Amino acid sequence: MSTDGAFDRFTRTVDAAAAIAGIKDARLLERIKTPERIHEVSVPIARDDGSHAIFTAYRVQHSSARGPYKGGIRYHPNVSLDEVKALAAWMSIKTAVVDIPLGGGKGGITVDPKTLSRTELEALTRSYTERIWRVIGPQVDVPAPDVNTNSQTMDWIAHEYGRQSRTISPAVVTGKSLAHGGSAGRDTATAQGGFEVLHDALGATGESIDGATVAIQGFGNAGANAAILLHRAGARVVAASDSTAAVFAADGLPVGRLVEHKAKGGSFADLADYEKRPTEDPLFAEADILVPAALEGQITSANAERVRARWILELANGPTTPEADAILERRRVNVLPDILANAGGVVVSYYEWLQNLHTEKWLREEVEARLAVTMRRAYERVSELATFRRASFRLAAYAIAIERIVAALRAESSEGRIVLGR
Ligand code: GLU
Repeated sequence: MSTDGAFDRFTRTVDAAAAIAGIKDARLLERIKTPERIHEVSVPIARDDGSHAIFTAYRVQHSSARGPYKGGIRYHPNVSLDEVKALAAWMSIKTAVVDIPLGGGKGGITVDPKTLSRTELEALTRSYTERIWRVIGPQVDVPAPDVNTNSQTMDWIAHEYGRQSRTISPAVVTGKSLAHGGSAGRDTATAQGGFEVLHDALGATGESIDGATVAIQGFGNAGANAAILLHRAGARVVAASDSTAAVFAADGLPVGRLVEHKAKGGSFADLADYEKRPTEDPLFAEADILVPAALEGQITSANAERVRARWILELANGPTTPEADAILERRRVNVLPDILANAGGVVVSYYEWLQNLHTEKWLREEVEARLAVTMRRAYERVSELATFRRASFRLAAYAIAIERIVAALRAESSEGRIVLGR
């Protein structure tokens, strides 16, 4: 599906939310919409067969108004500058919604990582780091995992950054392995944060996760961990997909088996015993809750009428277009928006960064308890404003975020603000 125009969708949503926040200063809105800096680099590697390849990569630093740039790095064949700009901007909004003192950024390499060996992936990651290390740093810009990157990728970046800068700086990236300064609970954080938001939202209408049916599109870190948490809480996962196929089972899929199969490097296309369907089919499954946990631009004006769920928990970034939002709103489908629902990942990234800076190690229970408090507080605030202004959760969350970013921009000294990374 098309990923074109994601950044344009971001700016249109900012304009709609600015009206709710009562912000009319066009100059400030322009500042919120415009990325502070954009880095595009060519990343050469030597292939295992002795040949050479060059990949295009980006790091977009959208806003440092509220703190150092923060956001993941994605490896995907569809990565484009427009997409990375949108993803970076969404990070600025997200960190503001959950009120952690960080800004927003994002990186990406246009590559299909499934065509590279482990040695080539390491070479690619180190080569990319060599080209961007001067513009990132613990107090400047702190990358993390995103689509097709993981704790191993982050360990390589931290090591290469250390080598280039001649420092030991675990706080330069988050989402590292536990052995290299990662935080307990970071692996499950995106799903857990979404779970807390869903739990409270359902609770407010007298519903519960226990006994609900769920369809999940995407079975990476967010989708797979959401399946585990929801299944454990008594929900039935009736449809799920990865990037190769979807599988359905009205009486519930064996979540443990699916997770194990993926952990061993398997894909849904080679799952025995199941009829395979197109990867987007879970979007239209007969289920109470739909969890888009794959890529942006999945629910559009062309298919929003076909969504059967009454709840959408957006664990992917940008899965729903504004046109689809309008259709879902008319159909009274409750959308728990990405910038709130998937913020658990960056919240625990923030905890990891704090632990690294203070040379501390927090227990998993401690991390999970703090995450729950942060998510619930954010949900509460968004829900209050949405009710008060009769706005969607998405626009209410954007309005809160924009207000916070504007407050930071207004607090600039007369000498002007520091733009990080200069
Ligand atoms: N990639 C994740 C996101 O989109 C996490 C970012 C982070 O932890 O910095 O929110």
